Amino acid sequence: MYMSTSEIRRAFLEYFRSQGHQVVSSSSLVPHNDPTLLFTNAGMNQFKDVFLGGDKRAYSRATTAQRCVRAGGKHNDLENVGYTARHHTFFEMLGNFSFGDYFKHDAIKFAWGFLTEALQLPKERLLVTVYATDDEAYDIWAKEVGVPTDRIVRIGDNKGAPYASDNFWAMGDTGPCGPCTEIFYDHGDHIWGGPPGSAEEDGDRFIEIWNVVFMQFNRQADGTMEPLPRPSVDTGMGLERISAIMQGVHSNYEIDIFQALIKKAAEIVGTTDLSNQSLRVIADHIRSCAFLIADGVMPSNEGRGYVLRRIIRRAVRHGRKLGAKEVFFYKLVAELAAQMKDVAEELIAQQSQVERVLRIEEEQFVRTLDRGLLLLEDVLNELGDAKEIPGDVVFKLYDTYGFPADLTADVVRDRGIGIDEAGFQVEMEKQRARAKEASSFGVNYNEMLKLDVETPFIGYKSLSEQTRIL
Ligand code: ATP
Ligand code: MG
Ligand code: MG
Ligand code: MG
Repeated sequence: MYMSTSEIRRAFLEYFRSQGHQVVSSSSLVPHNDPTLLFTNAGMNQFKDVFLGGDKRAYSRATTAQRCVRAGGKHNDLENVGYTARHHTFFEMLGNFSFGDYFKHDAIKFAWGFLTEALQLPKERLLVTVYATDDEAYDIWAKEVGVPTDRIVRIGDNKGAPYASDNFWAMGDTGPCGPCTEIFYDHGDHIWGGPPGSAEEDGDRFIEIWNVVFMQFNRQADGTMEPLPRPSVDTGMGLERISAIMQGVHSNYEIDIFQALIKKAAEIVGTTDLSNQSLRVIADHIRSCAFLIADGVMPSNEGRGYVLRRIIRRAVRHGRKLGAKEVFFYKLVAELAAQMKDVAEELIAQQSQVERVLRIEEEQFVRTLDRGLLLLEDVLNELGDAKEIPGDVVFKLYDTYGFPADLTADVVRDRGIGIDEAGFQVEMEKQRARAKEASSFGVNYNEMLKLDVETPFIGYKSLSEQTRIL
């Protein structure tokens, strides 16, 4: 049954509304009340204090389509974009929430009901995971829902690989968390990958679509797990992932919204190869950049603004790679607003401002981009057998040509070359020491160099932690 992305969003909210959930609007991508969080990264963020018991609402069940950005902080998918079928920097998370109302039984039954009844997905394509020791959830799936036990996998907490399964969900290092159960969809054996818990799970055959979290604890800074006042439920399903399934395609980048953005980007930069990876990156990045600016983030040299700047610069670089001859990125905003009109109120209201910010940012960067790339080519030619760009070069590209370190890494990644991250950090430290020395003469040059008023963000524990995201 084909459904457009907006039809799925509507069907989801309607399904939960009919089960007594209050439909609540998406919150901003900037979590104004939560200094521990870089960007809104899940539907539950706006309800954090409700879960913790400090905030009371007139409802005990809610449902949302929440815009999220995962490009820094605990959940960072920037490096996955362009390489997996399922990761974006910006995506929408469909969620249903229970604040001390229903718990495991109903949460599982609602999720299964929506997928197999409302959307009529074939049950034999679905697979579920439960937290390793959660016998209760296991029994609900096996005995009440009737999922065959060879399709239920027990998974523990994963402290290792970045996108290997983990059935203990946490918003950040502190805050609400709990064991979860996840639903995966098998796209078929023509695609590489294995079920969760197997050695090939990082492939894109079995794609995680829905995470159902049983919120039970508030993790403290010292690691202690304090029980929440009332056990609750928080779920999140990636809209683009479920769209891919409903539209009969494997990759999120093949769904309606992305195809429209990819076509538009191809037209603007003047290429005809629609399967080009750079087009996917650009289509992804315009969503995060445009929505971040509409939510009040401005490109800058620190914190949230620097994450935005890095994403814009990556997109600009990919445009040049495709042959863009002039400033192009901002020209995608109109198509994006049209494609997402149901949920782009803020973006539509500020379209010209968003375009202006993107245009200026690109104009500034293209002045140094080509020269930086030439320098990098020279260095690559001289590298010989070395597999790493030296730290001082990464720093020079950053300092003189405005290349964020991750952009340099992105440029050389396809050639199997990395960057000397530690060496880069040493150079950064030296620069900081120089700036400090200068400021002790009464003038803080770093302060003077700051371009924009910064969105306050004090979530990193130390400066070194902050520079790690550079
Ligand atoms: P994955 O293991 O695929 O990286 P996750 O376990 O990190 O996903 P959750 O934190 O459980 O994701 O988020 C809930 C849901 O949001 C996921 O099941 C998925 O459908 C969706 N989702 C998560 N990250 C992304 C992303 N970067 N792009 C698109 N959808 C995402
Ligand atoms: Mg992830
Ligand atoms: Mg996962
Ligand atoms: Mg998950």
